[in-house]
Amino acid sequence: MKKGLLMVFTGDGKGKTTAALGLALRSAGHGLKVCFIQFIKGSWKYGELEAVNRYRDLIDFHVMGRGFTWKSKDMGKDKEAARQAWRFAREAMASGRYHLVVLDELTYLLKYRMIEIEAVLATLVNKPAGLHVAVTGRGAPEEILAAADLVTEMQAVKHPMKAGIKAQKGIEF
Ligand code: ATP
Ligand code: MG
Repeated sequence: MKKGLLMVFTGDGKGKTTAALGLALRSAGHGLKVCFIQFIKGSWKYGELEAVNRYRDLIDFHVMGRGFTWKSKDMGKDKEAARQAWRFAREAMASGRYHLVVLDELTYLLKYRMIEIEAVLATLVNKPAGLHVAVTGRGAPEEILAAADLVTEMQAVKHPMKAGIKAQKGIEF
């Protein structure tokens, strides 16, 4: 019997998005379809973009939104883009086409109140029974942690940036 899981990768340490990519790769290895939705425009890195493109028959990836930041001059437009991105994600989850749907950096939309936590929670709790969903991002809200089947909190013990080591190919991008 297949039990669709709600999985959350959160915390301040590195490894949240890469964990979700690992799941996508593992699913694709079985010929299972994945929808990987990136909620922050510009956060896709060249390495993963090219790698995932090689599995384009199995992994659909979508970059949504406008880059949502506090620097934004037009919160109204950002909010609308976020709502649209969330509608898209809801449709992907309901479509029945996927084994796994990844909602990468979804927590930022919640943190900046671009979308309502109640609506997100209701969708996640009522997702199709066999569908696996992975949510990533710092500061996942308690409500989502409580509803999840798997929660991993990445703890930042050391990061090379602190020692002045710059981002490197294949590790950061
Ligand atoms: P990754 O994409 O490498 O799995 P992530 O998804 O856990 O990282 P995000 O919070 O999405 O991390 O931040 C993305 C970027 O911030 C990455 O380039 C990552 O290396 C960097 N980063 C993550 N954690 C830290 C940290 N504790 N100190 C400095 N930079 C960090
Ligand atoms: Mg990330």
